[in-house]
Amino acid sequence: MLNVKDVEKVYDSGDRALKGLSMEVSGNEIVSIIGPSGAGKSTLIRCINRLTEPTSGEIWLDDTEMTGLSSKELRKTRRDMGMIHQEFNLVERLTVMENVLSGRLGYMSTWDAFRRNFDSEDIATAREVLRRVGLEGVENNRADELSGGQRQRVGIARAVIQRPKILLVDEPTSALDPETSVEVMDLLTEIAREDDIPVLINIHEVDLATEYADRVVGLSDGELVFEGAADELDERA
Ligand code: ADP
Ligand code: ADP
Repeated sequence: MLNVKDVEKVYDSGDRALKGLSMEVSGNEIVSIIGPSGAGKSTLIRCINRLTEPTSGEIWLDDTEMTGLSSKELRKTRRDMGMIHQEFNLVERLTVMENVLSGRLGYMSTWDAFRRNFDSEDIATAREVLRRVGLEGVENNRADELSGGQRQRVGIARAVIQRPKILLVDEPTSALDPETSVEVMDLLTEIAREDDIPVLINIHEVDLATEYADRVVGLSDGELVFEGAADELDERA
């Protein structure tokens, strides 16, 4: 379970991007964060995965409070968070298999993955995960040979192989066409249910947010302005 408690983020520029935000994500629920540009959505995701440091407040992932961790502890905890990115963040000249295996090493250590020899068990697990996301047959292709939808599936496989406690998904469909977006959202839903992990999604397409989310969190100007089931949001709109 992810528990964000009273998180504030003031950038060096003086921008108050989050003004004491609290929220929870648990079970296998899919929660979408929506709100206008500049509302603080990506700052929230970046505070949770600690690409940026919250100014104050607490962020708990199960029994671990993450804002006070040493960098070594943080590296370990980051492996519990599967990140899925807008622009996929694959290493283009590595193969699909190598990109997925890099997830075994934790967050952003892809160059180590390239150098390291994986054992046959790692490779068997990666094959299994690639089958799950519908990428059997392209595992030895370079990432840059794939379509956008396939590339996002590689991103999802790389996150899933970490056995994360949560998936943090930042604008997963904004580089994809509508049909492919639906396929990617279907896949994320399937994974949340099958692996019983919660998913926190920053998504700007409100129709996708309401269709797929169990719950929607609305941000505006760094504050939570709405929280509820997706159909309640439909009624307000
Ligand atoms: P959203 O993802 O909802 O568009 P952001 O989290 O990107 O919102 O931005 C929230 C606020 O924080 C905005 O006012 C933005 O200008 C500011 N901001 C975002 N990133 C930075 C940064 N790295 N440095 C300074 N200000 C930032
Ligand atoms: P670890 O060895 O680190 O405990 P695994 O290698 O068993 O983890 O699995 C890592 C991830 O890969 C899991 O979260 C799961 O989603 C996926 N996975 C592993 N084995 C299978 C499988 N047989 N079928 C489907 N998915 C699998």
